[in-house]
Amino acid sequence: MPIDPTLRELALATKGFMPADEGDALHAAAIEAAAAVPGAPWVEVGSYCGRSTIWLGDAARAAGTVVFAVDHHRGSEENQAGWEHHDTEVVDPRVGKMDTLPFFRNAVHDAGLEDHVVGVIGRSPIVARHWTTPLAFLFIDGGHGVEPARNDYEGWAPHVATGGTLAIHDVFPDPSDGGRPPYEQIYLPAIASGRFELASVSGSLRTLIRVA
Ligand code: SAH
Ligand code: MG
Repeated sequence: MPIDPTLRELALATKGFMPADEGDALHAAAIEAAAAVPGAPWVEVGSYCGRSTIWLGDAARAAGTVVFAVDHHRGSEENQAGWEHHDTEVVDPRVGKMDTLPFFRNAVHDAGLEDHVVGVIGRSPIVARHWTTPLAFLFIDGGHGVEPARNDYEGWAPHVATGGTLAIHDVFPDPSDGGRPPYEQIYLPAIASGRFELASVSGSLRTLIRVA
C-alpha cells in the first residue's frame, strides 16, 4: 500500500531533498523489508527536516514497526552557509549553527507519526558504535563527504539483518550527476562485500538486500 496521500502532500511541503518518486520507492522497499524481517526496527541516517522520514514513518505505521531517525541536526558539510544546499531559515541565531530539529519535530508531529518515528539526536558514528539491534531496513542519507559516507557504511551496514534492506540515497555512478561518496563509499563496497545484492533502482535511490 502506498503512502497516505495526505502525508505525501505533507512530505512534499516539508523542507528537504527527497523527490516524490524516490520517496514512494523508499516507502515500498521499507514495507517489503518489514515482510522479510518481521518485528525488527528500521534506521534512517540523515533526516534533516523530516521529509524522507514521513515516507518511512508512514511505512513503519503500516508495517507495525518503528524507525529510529538519526541526525545531529547540525547539517552536513554541503548544507552549511556558502554551500549549494544551504537554507538560512534552518540556522539557529542563538548558537549561529544549523538546527533542523524543530522542523523535524514539527514534521513528525503534524504527520501524526510520533508513535512510529523515534528521533535520535547525535552523530551517526557515535550512535552506530552503541547500536546492537538487528535492522529490517537501513536508509543512509547522511553526510555525503568521503569520511561521513564511509563511516555510515562501516558503522551501520553490519546491523542489517539477513533478508533486510540497505537503501542508499544520492548514488551517482556518473560524476556529472552528483557527488561520488555515496556511490564509492557505500554502494560499491556493499556490492563488493558479497553481503548485499542490488534489488531496485529509482532515480538516485538504490535498495540492496542483505544476502549473507
Ligand atoms: N533525508 C533527508 C535529507 C538528509 S540531508 C531528506 O530526504 O530530506 C543530510 C542530513 O544528514 C543532515 O540533516 C545532516 O545533519 C545529517 N548528518 C550529516 N552528517 C551526520 C553525522 N555524522 N551524524 C548525524 N547526522 C549527520
Ligand atoms: Mg539525499
